[in-house]
Amino acid sequence: MELVKQNAERGITSHWNNKFKIEIKDPQCGTKVLPIVYKPVYVESGEHYVLKVHKKSDREQVFENVVDVSLGTTDWTHAHEFGHCCGLPDEYSYTDGVDETVKYYKPDGTLSEAISAPFDGKDPKAADATIMAAYGCTIVKPRHAWNIAIEVQELLRAKIGRKITCDII
Ligand SMILES: [Zn+2]
Repeated sequence: MELVKQNAERGITSHWNNKFKIEIKDPQCGTKVLPIVYKPVYVESGEHYVLKVHKKSDREQVFENVVDVSLGTTDWTHAHEFGHCCGLPDEYSYTDGVDETVKYYKPDGTLSEAISAPFDGKDPKAADATIMAAYGCTIVKPRHAWNIAIEVQELLRAKIGRKITCDII
C-alpha cells in the first residue's frame, strides 16, 4: 500500500499540482488568485473513492466509486485516474468507428466547444492531446479544473451572498 500511495502521490503532484490557478472576482473585495493544490487523503471511513490495489492488473479504471490500480500502476496512470476522481471524462471514445466528442461546462455556465474524442485515444504528441486523451501525455488544460471553479463559485456565492465569479487561469 505504501508503494502504491507513493506512486499515486508522485503522479498527482507532478501532473496536477502547480498547473492551475483559480481567479476569484468579488464585486466588493476585488480579485484574488490562488493556486489549486490536489492532495489525496487516505481515510478508513467517509471516503469518496475506494482504492482497490490488485497484485496485477491489465487495465486501471475508475468505476462508480472504485479506483482499480495495481502494484505496477505508473505515476502517470495514477494521475490520469485521479483526474476521473475529480470528475473528468476520458477525452477518447470506447467504441470503434464512432466519432465522439466531449464538452465541458465552463464556470460561466456555458458549454465549451466540442473536443474530438477518437477511439483508443490520441497520439501523445498530437497538438490537441491531453492527459485525459492520450497515454503518457502530460498536457493539462484549464477545462480540467473548470469544475473546481464552478464548485468554489457556488460555495462562495452561497456563503457570501454576492455574485462571486471564478475562473481558471
Ligand atoms: Zn481514463
